[in-house]
Amino acid sequence: MEKREKLYEGKAKIIYATDQPDKVIIYFKDDTTAFDGVKKEQIVGKGVINNAISSLIFEVLNKRSIPTHYIEKLSDREMLALKVEIIPVEVVVRNFAAGSFTRRYGVPEGTKLEKPLVETFWKNDELHDPLVCLEHIKLLKLAEPEDVEKMKEIALEVNEVLKAFFASKDILLVDFKLEFGKTTDGRLVLADEISPDSCRLWDAKTKKKLDKDVFRFDLGDLKEAYQELLNRLREK
Ligand code: UDP
Repeated sequence: MEKREKLYEGKAKIIYATDQPDKVIIYFKDDTTAFDGVKKEQIVGKGVINNAISSLIFEVLNKRSIPTHYIEKLSDREMLALKVEIIPVEVVVRNFAAGSFTRRYGVPEGTKLEKPLVETFWKNDELHDPLVCLEHIKLLKLAEPEDVEKMKEIALEVNEVLKAFFASKDILLVDFKLEFGKTTDGRLVLADEISPDSCRLWDAKTKKKLDKDVFRFDLGDLKEAYQELLNRLREK
């Protein structure tokens, strides 16, 4: 596999072309951002940990036949994935109240939701990723309605698989964000990353946070929290 030109650089990752038109290399950077990039820091080694965690999670999902872009982990900071065109709709699944749900609806952090809630946000930095419903998505032509239905279905399946996986490590899956894309042959697949940058994960007993909230709210050493998470996920 030959690494070619840079296709795109985001806040935490760089996408490179390869010698195969349907595959890309995703490189995980150490840059850590929160609050739309207002809070920014380099946390040396974070990219290595997030590549390891994300690869491990995608392997769990691939084994369960969930369609993802993930092919394999190539090196400390790189994974090989199918090239996709990202659909600008982020899907968030929540099992417990936290973050913007708590701020928006006043439900205290940690309240267990009766059933998983699926929300959709328009991936748009300038507008700060506004919450959108299917009617907005149709009107603004952000995605095909059938794809949105499928994305929500897959997101709930991912929630069941990951809830059980994390529970086996004594970790609560509080909420997470997924991104989807269309492959060069038009298939809808789960894309981007699934890491503590994009999930809220708490120790089931102590409720200690093992995710980006540690950075958002200066709760301690982010790298230590991510490393602890990785170690626990690797335990048999
Ligand atoms: N999230 C993300 N990227 C975003 C927004 C949210 O990965 O641009 C993740 C976030 O880490 C959390 C979940 O999606 O696990 C729900 O985030 P929320 O809507 O509560 O927003 P926040 O409080 O993180 O701004």
